[in-house]
Parts: sequence; structure tokens; C-alpha cells
Amino acid sequence: MSKQEEKKLFIQTLGCQMNDTDSQHIIAELKEHKNYSTTDNMEEADLIIINTCSVREKPVSKLFSEIGQFNVKKKENAKIGVCGCTASHLGKDIMKRAPYVDFVLGARNISKIKDVVDKKGAVEIDIDYDDSTYQFAQSGHNLYKTSVNISIGCDKKCTFCIVPATRGDEISIPTEMIVEQVKKDVAKGAKEVTLLGQNVNSYGKRFSDKREKTSFTKLLQEVSKIEGLERIRFTSPHPLHMDDEFIEEFAKNPKISKCIHMPLQSGSTSILKAMKRGYSKEGFIKRAKKIREMVPDVRITTDIIVAFPGETEEDFQDTIDVIKEVKFDQIFNFKYSPRPNTEALELKDLEIPDDIGSKRLIDVIELHKEHQSELMDLNIGKTVTVLFDSLKPNGEVSGFTDNYCQVFVKGSDELLGKLVDVKITDATRTALKGDVVN
Ligand code: SF4
Repeated sequence: MSKQEEKKLFIQTLGCQMNDTDSQHIIAELKEHKNYSTTDNMEEADLIIINTCSVREKPVSKLFSEIGQFNVKKKENAKIGVCGCTASHLGKDIMKRAPYVDFVLGARNISKIKDVVDKKGAVEIDIDYDDSTYQFAQSGHNLYKTSVNISIGCDKKCTFCIVPATRGDEISIPTEMIVEQVKKDVAKGAKEVTLLGQNVNSYGKRFSDKREKTSFTKLLQEVSKIEGLERIRFTSPHPLHMDDEFIEEFAKNPKISKCIHMPLQSGSTSILKAMKRGYSKEGFIKRAKKIREMVPDVRITTDIIVAFPGETEEDFQDTIDVIKEVKFDQIFNFKYSPRPNTEALELKDLEIPDDIGSKRLIDVIELHKEHQSELMDLNIGKTVTVLFDSLKPNGEVSGFTDNYCQVFVKGSDELLGKLVDVKITDATRTALKGDVVN
């Protein structure tokens, strides 16, 4: 068979880290099977893909304005594909609204990319499709960091979240496939891996080959045996599954980065119930305190949704209480927005006026800023170990501490990929500065 002519792919990714990994898979599959290489210039592309997110409202509206622009500016005969979560939930409607779109590929169907790319009008959005054992072509990554999916879908039914409707039920990727993938990336220079899933710490409950159940803790133990791998991160865990066994492993395993995401969503037990999160205000605080006690340098990050339907001022004050008690190192804040195919849509009559939601969001941001400054200043004078991964144009090199705080130092590319001790001399709310300790 003659070698296919090289074609150019322009891909735009919106949304979370799982979407980033899906885009890496799309790029690798199209390179391997269809001879596409990527370009940053949309106007020279033969194929334009927008990999979407529909967790928040904005990316959905952005999608249609963006593909409209692409259609006007694209090269003649260039194809347009829409992939990801919005593709899953809008399906054919995308083509009704934007008839120039060539194919639609849902978030649970990424492994079919090589089949749909040349099929005008293809729509593949089956949320029961199981590609948990599909061997994706090897993708590129930041030389020193890689990310690997450990599961697909999510079994939780959080009432505000569209993910179960776009990514389907949870299926774990076999442990040996994950370990193999990490080993390959380490052989190419990766020192750090991020294990990705919608709910990582429920890993091991269900596999497509009906094998015996396992646990996320066991997976962490297997991955940490990989020689040459220095650091393991994971996102997102669910506070409900942070059992003692998991916390102990997190605390004692030296390869696990001491930064943990604990998505609170709300501090009010009654709102948590309405969200179907499965834990209470007190239960969350107890877990967070236990983690802080067992891992004194831990950084705890979180997600908070304000103005969920029915959230009273008292409920909101519960959220403020938890923020004060736990003092999160980073908060990703959102004002509730109704999403299609979610249970919370039924609470329409209880929706909170926008001005109240905005005020609550500002209150969270302001309180968090105070905590961030206080917590980051505690680093000044300390010596920390940094894994350097990028060279900045201003002659600085940046990397991350073991508890995942960004650090900048003056230096050269000789630092890249190394774990180096740094004395911290200065701090902003989001990053540290320091000098390499010789
Ligand atoms: S755990 Fe809840 S918020 Fe997270 S992806 Fe699953 S349903 Fe959505």
C-alpha cells in the first residue's frame, strides 16, 4: 500500500484534563493511521477538530461561535469534526445547527476517530461503548510529565453533573495496561505521571473482562514500583472514597505527590444531599483534617459550586465555614449553571437569583485569596525539592514541589527533568521563587 499523503490537523481542546488526554489520543491515532501531523495554524489545516466540554455552560455556546469562525476561515475542502462531551450530548443536533460539520464523535468513542474521519455525516456518540481495553497509538507528552487514563465514565449521579450522560458508566482500564503505558512514557523520559479518571479512587470496581475487583490503593502500589518514575499524581478523587487505607498509602508512599484534590462542591449537608454527593459537612472536615494531620505539608485543592438551587444564606455560610476550617490551597469556584440531562434541572423553581450567586462567588474568592497569601508565605525560608519541567523565555526555569506548588528559579535547561533542592525566597498567591541549593 502506498504511503498516504501527509495532512495537517488543527485541534482545539476545551475543558478538563481528561479532554486534554483524549486530544492526545486523537492526535496519536490520526498520526499513526491517517498520516496527520498537527499544526497551530487553523487556516492551513486539512482537518479541524474541536474537542469540547459541556460541564460548564460557556464552552457549549463558545463551540458554535468557534466552529462558525472555523468554517469561514478554513482552507477549501478542509473537514471539521466535533468531539468530546458536547458532541455526546448534542449528537446530530450539532449538524442541524452547523451543517458544515463533517463528523461528531462522543467522549466515550474516541477510539473510533480513525473510522469517522473520512465518513461525512458520521455521528458516533454511544455512551455504552467500551474502549477501556483499546490500545491507543503512543502519544507525545511533555518530556518529563505524562498522564494516563485509568478509567472511563462515572457511576456517580451528582445532580449538577452532565458527565454520566456524556461519558457513561464507569469501567476501569486493566492495571497491566496502565502500568505498561507508564513504563513506555518513563522509558521516553517521563518522571511524573498523572492518573486520570472522573472518580479515580473508585478504580477497580468493574472491568470489561469481568476480572476480580481491585482498588485504587493497589493500583498506586503497582504504579509506584516502576523504576525511574519519581512522582505520581491523580485527579479527580471523590471525598467519599477517601478511606483509611487510601489515606495511609497517600501519606506513606514517597512517590505520591502530596497534593490532593478534595472536591467539596458545597459545605452544607442538606445541599450535599440535594447534590447526591454522599458525605456531610462534618464528614468532609474530618477527612480533610485527618489528611492534614498525617501529611503535614499536604496541599489540598477543591471545587466549589455556589448558588446551587435552594442554597440558603445559612447553607452558603456552611460552605464558608468549611473553607475557614480546611483552608484550601486552591479553590476552583463556579456559580451553578443548569446543564442538560442533569437531575438538578428539576429544581428550576429553587434557582438562586444571579446577583446573589455572583456575590457568593466573590465572597468565596476573597476569603480564599486571604488563605492563599497566608499559606504561600509559610514557604519562605524553607528548602523544598523541585522537579523542573520547563524553561521560560525570561531565563527562568520552572517546576513543581512535591506538594505541587509551582517554583521559579534562575537557571538553565540543565535543571530540566531533575529533582533539585531549592531555598524559597519569595511567594505570590500562586507561585514561589527561590535559589537552587548547591
Ligand atoms: S463524581 Fe459526580 S461530579 Fe464527578 S464526574 Fe462523577 S457525577 Fe460528575
